[in-house]
Amino acid sequence: MDYQVSIVGGGVSGALAALFLGKARVKTCLVDRGKPSEKLSNPFEGKTTSLNLSSIESLKQAGIWKTIEKNSKEFDEIFVWDAEGSSSIHFNASEISRNSLGAIVHNNIILDAIFNELEKIPDIKLIEDAKLKEIIQGRNEIKLITESGHSISSELLIGADGSLSKTRDLSNIPIRTWSYEQLAIVTSVTTENPLNRTAFQIFTDTGPIALLPLSTGKNQASLIWSTDEPYGNKILELENDLLMKELRLKTENKFGAISLNEEIKSFPLHQLHAKSFYKSRTILVGDSAHTIHPLAGQGLNLGISDVKEISELIIAANRRGKALYDEDMLKSYSKKREPESFKMIALMEAFKRGFGSDSLWAKFGRNFAFDFANNTKHLKQRLIKEAAGII
Ligand SMILES: Cc1cc2nc3c(=O)[nH]c(=O)nc-3n(C[C@H](O)[C@H](O)[C@H](O)COP(=O)(O)OP(=O)(O)OC[C@H]3O[C@@H](n4cnc5c(N)ncnc54)[C@H](O)[C@@H]3O)c2cc1C
Repeated sequence: MDYQVSIVGGGVSGALAALFLGKARVKTCLVDRGKPSEKLSNPFEGKTTSLNLSSIESLKQAGIWKTIEKNSKEFDEIFVWDAEGSSSIHFNASEISRNSLGAIVHNNIILDAIFNELEKIPDIKLIEDAKLKEIIQGRNEIKLITESGHSISSELLIGADGSLSKTRDLSNIPIRTWSYEQLAIVTSVTTENPLNRTAFQIFTDTGPIALLPLSTGKNQASLIWSTDEPYGNKILELENDLLMKELRLKTENKFGAISLNEEIKSFPLHQLHAKSFYKSRTILVGDSAHTIHPLAGQGLNLGISDVKEISELIIAANRRGKALYDEDMLKSYSKKREPESFKMIALMEAFKRGFGSDSLWAKFGRNFAFDFANNTKHLKQRLIKEAAGII
């Protein structure tokens, strides 16, 4: 047997799993089809994540939070409003006796911090430019074959290769998936009025808009604009300044003039979850197990919780000298993690249906729900704790 654990996928989920396991001296091999360890000339580009307090705690435990923190923007308020109604909800960290609700950070900053740390760990082997091609299930091991000709055997395989996971397909784990019929328009912008330490979410008639404060410069914000497909395709054809004017209109001029900082990226949004989070010697974490709407800003937070859970189970089994392929251990992982992701998927569906409807009843219903939640102390505290990932 070459390794105790092999991991396919060096995104945040897979690389963080390698870091936890490597630090605990579990012999691990991390395989990626690209070169995730390569240093980027500008890591402040691309996807951003709103890390919740639970994820920040995990990154502290992994010993990398101090590096990430320098390049992140803490927020202590979340302000959600319904552009179609008159209601809003306002969460403040002080309502749950905390100083912050989370931090916004570029995914590349997290990856950089993880790979810098992985380099120092002798029990980790990193194989890049190696796309998974085949999985062979043996009696006592599982073997990966890559298109680049590597053959890697281990006791347990972790699939962390994202939404279109080949590990999941080759392991014959069925999925449920459907399209949200929306596009995500993602970029970074500068607003005339400051966001300060507030994360904004605005529900509009064509989909939700998130504006999240960034650490990169004065009034800079990450924009995640989820739009219904026909409207999204139409506005993507606009000149940049007209697109920003449309954004100003949709956000009811709350942020004043808005200008673009970087190239716009857009992609279709879909929901996906694996019907089981494990099969035989394969276990799934992160987006390979569940891909959810970015509206809640919880996809990677769920992935980090998966990684923490499975790493703790593997490390404990290894310390006790037990086999890492243990049906009870895998069952215990899925029993804990599957309900968490289903809860989030159900919540996203409820939002999609509640806010995707033009009916007067739906508008009345969400105004009532917002006002009720905003004025009911215990419910509000629960919602804040959910958002911060501390429930
Ligand atoms: C617009 C948008 C905004 C978001 N905002 C947030 C947010 O605020 N908070 C939050 O928690 N989440 C957010 N998410 C979700 C989050 O980005 C994802 O959940 C997260 O990036 C998934 O990480 P991962 O490591 O599981 O998968 P990925 O990042 O997809 O990584 C998969 C890795 O596997 C590798 N790979 C794939 N196939 C193979 C193969 N065949 N062989 C070898 N390697 C392979 C890839 O190269 C890649 O490195 C957002 C998502 C979107 C779309």
